[in-house]
Amino acid sequence: MAGKTEGIVKSQRVNQESEKDNSLQEFQDILKEAIGVLNYPDQVFDFIKTPMRFLEVSIPVQMDNGETRMFQGYRAQHNDAMGPTKGGIRFHPDVTPEEVKALAGWMSLKCGITDLPYGGAKGGIVCDPRKMSFPEIERLSRGYVRAVSQIVGPTKDIPAPDMYTNSQIMAWMLDEYYHIREFDSPGFITGKPLSLGGSKGRETATSKGVLYTLQTVSDLKKIPIQGMRVIIQGFGNVGSYLAMYLHELGAKVVGIADVLGGLYDPDGLDIPYLLDNRDSFGVVSNRFKDSLSNQELLEKECDVLIPAAISGVVNKQNARRLQCKILIEAANGPTTKEAIKILDEKGILLVPDILANSGGVIVSYFEWCQNNQGYYWTEELVDQRLKEKITVSFLKVYHTSKTFSVNMKVAAYIEGIRKVVEASRLRGWIR
Ligand code: GLU
Repeated sequence: MAGKTEGIVKSQRVNQESEKDNSLQEFQDILKEAIGVLNYPDQVFDFIKTPMRFLEVSIPVQMDNGETRMFQGYRAQHNDAMGPTKGGIRFHPDVTPEEVKALAGWMSLKCGITDLPYGGAKGGIVCDPRKMSFPEIERLSRGYVRAVSQIVGPTKDIPAPDMYTNSQIMAWMLDEYYHIREFDSPGFITGKPLSLGGSKGRETATSKGVLYTLQTVSDLKKIPIQGMRVIIQGFGNVGSYLAMYLHELGAKVVGIADVLGGLYDPDGLDIPYLLDNRDSFGVVSNRFKDSLSNQELLEKECDVLIPAAISGVVNKQNARRLQCKILIEAANGPTTKEAIKILDEKGILLVPDILANSGGVIVSYFEWCQNNQGYYWTEELVDQRLKEKITVSFLKVYHTSKTFSVNMKVAAYIEGIRKVVEASRLRGWIR
């Protein structure tokens, strides 16, 4: 086996996907803290702590063996004061109603911080797409759209990809919506393939957003990207593109992890080799005899740690052992609130998820604008506008953190909450 990473890693695998999800509590706790800093009345917290609308559906799907199986699905619409709601749909065995509600709330804050004319939403289906055939996934995707069709639409609630969903799934969902409504409305869903009205640059948008955020941090902290030692946990859509961009810019990607394990080399991993050798779920660590566990990798020495997989991976058990200077949350909710306190004490700068991973929804917004206009942009224009939007948002949050003497997490919540509350007040929903 070629590549510098061969033989440098040791084996231990953990299934961290079975950890209990605590997202809603995390969302509400930090929400409360930020509302306290803003001195808003308690009524504001009660108003935005849970979604305005939540739908739970059962989706019958005919499996390839002829049996019919029922799948549970959810759609949460957090707040539509700022505009139609927006957010991805995840396919994952651990999806819970609480998690979907938290993710919808985070989407509202994300749209508020980045000044998008949307509120937040999120959908999820409890399923394991890795154990399903393509026709089964197609029938499930279409069944979900039929089940939620009453509450979604191009000016109501606009879905998009999320964990384990992709442009092909968006294409099936678009087609199903077209059959239900009998008109072609590409703006019903974003993250579509280019030939169905997708946007150039959408596929790479989240990773580019993280990269632009990192570039701003690198300027602020005077740690050049060239030679910067980075660990990325997650080698799916976000992590893999990010690893490639950073490698191309001369950073040393010293660690990566996929769902099965992690690889670490203090001299830098052979990223092009790893990218060429992963499977369709982004798994490559199983090609190596000796891989680290996902968790072990997080504690290795680096300048920047980027959790780009699942929630809760940096927690009170391991936060004290982290050896990074900067932590960028590319995943949603990877750092628990206890861990954030510890990172503050250790002087580690945390760039929060609702800012760092907003590139996806920003370019989804660009895709929706292009669909509404029927005029399509170049990739350069998409990238330039993404960079502008995320950099301005970062600097706004950074400034707020200094003004209120709070960490970047609370500052990002403050910026998001302000927008949601202002729109809701103007509509007369709250005082
Ligand atoms: N699922 C992505 C997120 O969590 C993108 C959402 C969207 O494009 O609407 O931000």
